[in-house]
Amino acid sequence: MKHNGITTDTSSDISGKVVTRIAPSPTGSFHIGTARTALFNFLFARKHNGIFAVRFEDTDRERSDEKHEEEILSALHWLSLHPDTVTRQSERKEIHREYIARLLDSDHAYVSREPSKKDPSREVEVVRFRNTNPKVSFTDTVRSDITIDTSDLGDFVIARSTDDPLYNLAVVIDDAEMGVTHVLRGDDHIVNTPRQVLLIKALGISPPMYTHIPLIHSPSGGKLSKRKDAVSVLSFVEQGYLPEALINTIALLGWNPKDDREIFTLEELIELFSLEHIQKKEAIFDEKKLQWFNKQCIQRMPENRLRGEVVPALVKRFPVRSRLHPRSIQTILQTVRERGIVFSEVRESIHNGEYDFFFTAPDYPAALLLPKDSTKEQYSADQILTSLERTHALLKSVSAYRQWDEKHVQDAVWKYAEEQGKSRVLWPLRVALSGREKSPGPFVIAQAIGKKQTLMRVKKGVVRLRELSGSA
Ligand code: GLU
Repeated sequence: MKHNGITTDTSSDISGKVVTRIAPSPTGSFHIGTARTALFNFLFARKHNGIFAVRFEDTDRERSDEKHEEEILSALHWLSLHPDTVTRQSERKEIHREYIARLLDSDHAYVSREPSKKDPSREVEVVRFRNTNPKVSFTDTVRSDITIDTSDLGDFVIARSTDDPLYNLAVVIDDAEMGVTHVLRGDDHIVNTPRQVLLIKALGISPPMYTHIPLIHSPSGGKLSKRKDAVSVLSFVEQGYLPEALINTIALLGWNPKDDREIFTLEELIELFSLEHIQKKEAIFDEKKLQWFNKQCIQRMPENRLRGEVVPALVKRFPVRSRLHPRSIQTILQTVRERGIVFSEVRESIHNGEYDFFFTAPDYPAALLLPKDSTKEQYSADQILTSLERTHALLKSVSAYRQWDEKHVQDAVWKYAEEQGKSRVLWPLRVALSGREKSPGPFVIAQAIGKKQTLMRVKKGVVRLRELSGSA
């Protein structure tokens, strides 16, 4: 499809260098809407070997803050959406002045003295566009051809002064100066496009191809709100989500890969991305979807990266490395992977000692060894003492060298557990090994800590139960 000399991506033969950009205002935190716009711009630029630029719209000096610029850039890097160039609108004052002068000289704009909006008792000078009220047409990839009657716009203000353009003019100038070929931005900006097209025509510059991306709504309906919904990228980083999980989640916000794979790498997304598969309908951001992707990413993560995420926390908890038995580390990694536990939670659990039992015998209240039966009645210490003693004997018969693994340990006690009722046998065994109300299963722990430790801990459980039944 050709549009004003620019080809959209209906075919692979895009002529000339593709340049895309995001133009965030550094006035607040970086939220997923902007991250999604960044992703689409990045994918499109990379797909066509083009340039992906970041331009901070920092002309609102009072509200703009460098700390927000830093947050945006670090979030982009975290997501691996590395920009090719980073600029600030405020650095282009000289250029803006020249363009405003051009519009004034060609009589497309005029200086108007009028009462200030903020303080009507004061007169200000603004620059207004001389609107001849034409019908303007532009092509939007998502909504096809759009024609708008601009007479409602009147002579709109384009600059606060002869060197201080407002958003619509600044965007037009900066996009032209940067050679932006494709503008991909939120649907909320479609109302601005007719003004921008008028300015583009007046300045005789080549217009970009527009793609307005559908807005993001919350699952409860309505536009995603920065105040009500958890939407800041930083908060997802802090919660321990993985960048790949966020990328996969936002990629599907308004775009459909038309491919039945469930999870994509950034390279695969670059390959698949196409403007035509952007939908018109608003997209729904559901954190549950992010959680699901996060689990998938952990489950598929290469071993060395998983180690890198978890092991440093264990080393911090147990600085004496000899205590960190490799088998126990392996079991923890396996648990984290199977359950898809968010890394920040894993690290916090390690820090709080919830995994200590893998490396050191636990301490626990003896009563924790007593499970409840099917009628929710607690077994007596005597009953559990009998089953734990028997379990000890069964485990002792397993060979430490050739057989001590999850399967053989399970085989050794399984029949007895089935006869007696599983909770009666397996609960006290698990508590004796972990000292915790919740933990991985007893066979997994037994394999990790080895036969000697397992028997020692079970014996200790027996002693605790004897004390408990004696004192009862
Ligand atoms: N500052 C605008 C925004 O963040 C940029 C709009 C545009 O891309 O033209 O939404």
